[in-house]
Amino acid sequence: MLTTLLATRARALAPLFARDLVVWQRHQGRHDLPWQRDRDPYRVWLSEIMLQQTQVSTVLGYFERFLHRFPDVHGLAAASLDEVLAQWAGLGYYRRARFLHQCAQAVVRDHGGVFPRQAAQLVTLPGIGPSTAAAIASFCFEERVSIMDGNVRRVLSRLLACEADPATTATQRALETAAAVLLPLHADVMPTYTQGLMDLGATLCTPRDPACGRCPMAASCHGLQSGEPQRYPAKGRRLVRQRRENWWLWAQCGDQIWLEQRPDQGVWAGLWTLPLLDSAAACQEHLGGGSMQALPVIQHALTHFDWFLHPVKGSIATASPRFRSQGRWVPFTALAGLALPAPLQKLLKSINP
Ligand code: SF4
Repeated sequence: MLTTLLATRARALAPLFARDLVVWQRHQGRHDLPWQRDRDPYRVWLSEIMLQQTQVSTVLGYFERFLHRFPDVHGLAAASLDEVLAQWAGLGYYRRARFLHQCAQAVVRDHGGVFPRQAAQLVTLPGIGPSTAAAIASFCFEERVSIMDGNVRRVLSRLLACEADPATTATQRALETAAAVLLPLHADVMPTYTQGLMDLGATLCTPRDPACGRCPMAASCHGLQSGEPQRYPAKGRRLVRQRRENWWLWAQCGDQIWLEQRPDQGVWAGLWTLPLLDSAAACQEHLGGGSMQALPVIQHALTHFDWFLHPVKGSIATASPRFRSQGRWVPFTALAGLALPAPLQKLLKSINP
């Protein structure tokens, strides 16, 4: 049985695994990330949410700006959702920003503005999954719980030579059991241990080309002993990427542009965007005649599909009756205060109205 197999392999590696990882992190790990400066749960929580599906290099700028605008959980809870989305714009996966806002409000309303200390309590808050809860509890409060994000799954799959499909619940449970076996015995090293796991996955045990020659686990890694560490984790079911096409109507009336707010669910939930239409003819009809200018196509990659956006620009002298619902005319000078998706921000910069 998979759980027994991985737990047996993990028991054979513990406790040297934790000791070696902690020593390696102290000497070779990352120490200069802005959320490592202290053990403030607000900062750790914010960084964890931002780092989901987003690279560290991208998060760095957003993290500082977000903290500058919302320095603590009270400030974030008191802000409007539009303000939060505006600060988040460009990071993608906007559900995270909505949950962030809801979570801040729950911490203030239900916990007096103080984050709970245990992972079991943290996981009850909006948008905090088991791995994020473990990260906050282990970093900030030295709880003996293991994070289990994509990087850690990859490291453990290689370390323990896990052949099973990583997408299945059974495999995830087996890896969680093994991760619990590998935890250090002493809680006071939990922050360094957790950071070590993250650093190992981010800097050495990378998806394509693991640097096993520099890895502190090389002597005991089952994946390396197999001769092909990069074949772990096993390949799961592959998603077939779809292609989607829309025409993006830039309707301008004087120094104003027509924007519509996306629904609360789905892609770009709650953000302000140009009307998305199915064809150039639909744009023409929307404008009620007049000339249109086609702008360069924008390709935007989302998790399950590639989106080809065809911006077309048209001017109208007076606001057409067609532009009366689901949106509003926005002066160019007011665009900075709105939550706009990243491709629209790029388009605005390229046109510089
Ligand atoms: S030895 Fe290689 S495969 Fe094993 S944990 Fe280290 S980097 Fe990953």
